[in-house]
Amino acid sequence: MAKTWYPIIDRDKCMSCGTCVDFCAHGVYELDGDGQPVVKAPENCVEFCRGCAKICPEEAISYYGDSER
Ligand code: SF4
Ligand code: SF4
Repeated sequence: MAKTWYPIIDRDKCMSCGTCVDFCAHGVYELDGDGQPVVKAPENCVEFCRGCAKICPEEAISYYGDSER
């Protein structure tokens, strides 16, 4: 089954603070070589969690599959 829920980072808003990477207990994010967060394991994301979007200081995170976005 195709994954229908995972985070999307708005590159124009993200300031690479790393908060989302530290916050997510499911290893969805990883920092790339430039210190920018990347969605490394979208399949690990918990449907309707929204935890990382709430703690992102730049409101840079939305979700694929979210009808509210
Ligand atoms: S918490 Fe938000 S601003 Fe910080 S690295 Fe993650 S997406 Fe970027
Ligand atoms: S929504 Fe939850 S499980 Fe998915 S990446 Fe964010 S904190 Fe991790």
